[in-house]
Parts: sequence; C-alpha cells; structure tokens
Amino acid sequence: MLNLSVLLEDAARETPDRDALVFGDMRLSFAFVDQVANQVANLLVARGIKPGDKVALSSPNLPYFPMIYFGALKAGAVVVPLNVLLKPREIAYHLGDSDAKAFFCFEGTPELPLGEAGHAGFQNAPECEHFFLLPASLATTESPIEGAELFWAALNGQPNTFDTVLTEPTDTAVIIYTSGTTGQPKGAELSHMNLLTNAMLDDSLFAKSLHDTTLVVLPLFHIFGQTCVMNVSLYRRATQVLLPRFDAKQAIELMVKENVKIFAGVPTMYWGLLTDDTSGEDVKAIRENLTVAVSGGAALPMEVLKGIKEKFDVDVLEGYGLSETSPVASFNRPDRPTKPGSIGLPIWGVEMKLIDDEWNEVEGEGPGEIAVRGHNIMKGYYKRPEATADSIKDGWFRTGDIGRRDDDGYYYIVDRSKDMIIRGGYNVYPRELEEVLMTHPGVSLAAVVGVPHDSHGEEVKAYIIKTPGSALTEDELIAWGKENFANYKYPRIVEFREELPMTATGKILKRELR
Ligand code: AMP
Repeated sequence: MLNLSVLLEDAARETPDRDALVFGDMRLSFAFVDQVANQVANLLVARGIKPGDKVALSSPNLPYFPMIYFGALKAGAVVVPLNVLLKPREIAYHLGDSDAKAFFCFEGTPELPLGEAGHAGFQNAPECEHFFLLPASLATTESPIEGAELFWAALNGQPNTFDTVLTEPTDTAVIIYTSGTTGQPKGAELSHMNLLTNAMLDDSLFAKSLHDTTLVVLPLFHIFGQTCVMNVSLYRRATQVLLPRFDAKQAIELMVKENVKIFAGVPTMYWGLLTDDTSGEDVKAIRENLTVAVSGGAALPMEVLKGIKEKFDVDVLEGYGLSETSPVASFNRPDRPTKPGSIGLPIWGVEMKLIDDEWNEVEGEGPGEIAVRGHNIMKGYYKRPEATADSIKDGWFRTGDIGRRDDDGYYYIVDRSKDMIIRGGYNVYPRELEEVLMTHPGVSLAAVVGVPHDSHGEEVKAYIIKTPGSALTEDELIAWGKENFANYKYPRIVEFREELPMTATGKILKRELR
C-alpha cells in the first residue's frame, strides 16, 4: 500500500512549522498545506468522488496546485494536471478524454468558456459534474460563474483531517497529457510508485540541500516541475518559492530575496538568466547562495552552460526524461564525473539502450533511438492500448529521441527523431547546428528547423536572436555557416527574430517555426 501523498504527510509530521510554500507575502507551513489538502480530500468525497475517479486541475504555480494535487491523491483519485494555456476546445478534449469527474480551474485561465459551461456543460465532457473555481484574488467571496463553486467557499466546514486512501503502488496517481511524437495529446498514466521513486531519485544530489529553498518556476502541471521541483522538495522538506511565470528579473529578485539554493529550469530559462543585465550585487548574492542547478526538458547549449558557470559560479547538471518516464531517466550525478553536453548516466533502477526501428539493440556508440526500462516507465497511454503497444515492449519504452553513448556509458542526445531534417537524402541534426551557431559572437539563441523544398525535400533554416547591438546580417551568417559546416547541412535560410515561440514549459516550439 502506497500513496504518493505520503510525501506531504511525512513532511507535515516531521517539520510542521517550516515554510512549505512562499508566494508573495504569503508563507504557508507544511502542516497548513497538509490540512488544506485534507479538506480538499473531504470535499471530493462529499461530492461523491471515488478512488480511481479522475480530477482535473488547471492552475499556475500557486499554493492551489499542491493543495489540490495532494488532496485528490489522498482521496484515492487520479490527478489530471492541465496546461494553463489550453484553449476552451482543448480543455473540453482533455476533460472528455480523461473522463474527469471534477475540474479545479484557475480564474485567470485564458478564455475559459465559463459563461455557458459553469458546471457539467463542457462539450465532450458529460461526466465532469463538479466545477471548482480557483479565484485569482483570495478576497473573492462569490463565484462569478453560475454553477461553479468557489474553491475556498467549498472547503469551508470541511474537516482538516482525513484518512488517506491506501492505494496499490501500481494504481494510477496522475495522468499527464503529452503529444508524444504524433497526433492528439495522449494521457500517460503514471503510478504512485513511478512518481514516488522518481522523486526520491538522487540522494547524492540533494543530500547537501535538505531543508533548503528552491525556486518553483517550472510549471507544476508539467512532469519536470511536478516531480523534480514539487515532489523532490517535499521529500527534502525544502521551502518552495512559487513564481507563476518565468521572467528573468523576477526570478533573480526572488532568488536573492529568499536565498534560493536550488534552481531547476529548462535551457531557455538559463538563457534568460544569463542574458539578463542583473546588477553586480545580485549576481554576487546568487553566486554565494545557489548550490544546485538542474536543467532538462531540452538540450542545454554549451554556450549557456559555460556562461552560467562564469556568471553565477554554479555547474548546471543536465538530466533527461519524458512525461512517460516520470520524468527522469538519466542525469549527470554530482558524485560522478559530470560530462558537459551529455545527459549523464541512467539513474538508479533505470536502464537505457539504443535501438533501431525494429526494436533491435544497436551496439557500440550508436546513434540509435533511446529506449528506457525501469520503475519510472508509465503504465501506458490512458485508453489507448495500441499506442501503448507501439511504445512499450518487454518493459522497454521507446522515446523517439536519437542518442549516442560513450565508452563510459554516458548518453548524449543527438536530436529528437521528428526534428531531424532530411536534406537531399542526408540527415541533418538541428541540435548540432544550433550549438555551433551559438558560438558566433553575433548569435545569442539559435533554433534550426527544416522547411519544405522542391528538389531537396527539406531545406535547413535557422531562426536567430542576435546578441544586443550586433550588426550581423543574414548573408554574413550564411557565409559563416558555409565555412563551418559540411555543404549539405549549413543553413541556407536565416531569419532574425526578437523572440522565439515557446511552450508554457519554455521549450522552443519548433513545430510553429516549421
Ligand atoms: P516532455 O514529455 O514534455 O517532458 O518532453 C520530453 C522530451 O523532451 C524528450 O523526448 C526529449 O526530446 C526532450 N528532452 C528532455 N530532456 C532533454 C535533454 N536533456 N536534452 C535534449 N532533449 C531533452
């Protein structure tokens, strides 16, 4: 018997008065957060939610998120976290596909079809009978939406103790929606054990940071933030400083104000911290405090890694994983030699190998598609046995990422198979080009994609954010590329942009650039 909510319950028992969450002027103790989670569990039970029922949650990084997440888990329900940027049509799809019975939704969610859909009215989601509104302002006393219960009002009178439902380790705890490689978003079913083992993953990394403070800016609805920030922090009794939206200035301000020791982010956040014109005093404060920096979710360019080391005197440790792997599969553990540019070694209890299209193992250094096996692999895609069978065989999950392996067993991401460009029959890996383009003094950030081409099938195109003040021209960069890359792969098209489209997690949206 095992319930992921043990993470919060243990912390509340051992360090009840310590700050669990900090948001603005609000400081909430572990005991308080646990008590509100108990109220949420009681509320759900009172509304008829049974173990195994699905409860959807759409909230930015605010105290609501952990309270509702763990409240639903305590009741034995399955949490379905939704991306806060989803549009009404997408919300309806996710609620319907996941069979959600209840939906907790932040008031500020863009264009929420609240008017006509206060409660059971979501198209395609007839089962969603309970709709709780998370008000942007805590002072709100009445729900502005007919049929929607105001969260705090609904909690009112619910007891703050609860006997947690004892689930089986293999019971589904969370369904994370991911696009995977193709098609409509699919729900990856992660069990209590998947998530708990992944949160406890690396004592070597956090041993020195027990009871420390971490900045929570990776969105909690995404698996990276959920496991590596929220759950790891609870396991470590670390104080979580919540920041709903990444903004380099705000992040730096909070890191200084709260003496943040642990930061986990995606590469574009590191790039933001690096290119921000932070004052010397703030840089000094961060250099003194920051001891653990973790990157994942996308490839960390070497130039960014080096820049962060110089500016903040911290080694960014890169890891790798997916929604389907809870997420961490491999990591540059600090107790082993770290290899910049690599995604490290498989974590404890996890195996990795390289395979070909027919699932045969690729010996030696590869390249091949990375496959992962271990306690972190999802149960499958919710209600999609075929998609599950396509992606998991004999316990091995195929990731869709192309990788290499060195003699010491460290893995390197070459690229995502779907991002690979095939130009005139040659494989071009955007990531390699991006790394090199970013060594050009006029280039701050590069994203390379394939665009359709009549005779070559695809042509290589680079989107570039220039370094401030640079007078670099498109022709100059193309000429530079010609000198530095093989003829078949240098970018023949260059477009300068002020910014690049990003997902809510901060990954560059190559789909949109294509
Ligand atoms: P998600 O399911 O949203 O977490 O996305 C997973 C994908 O992120 C993986 O399949 C990889 O393509 C990418 N990814 C995660 N970590 C890394 C990394 N360290 N380097 C390169 N790509 C990564």
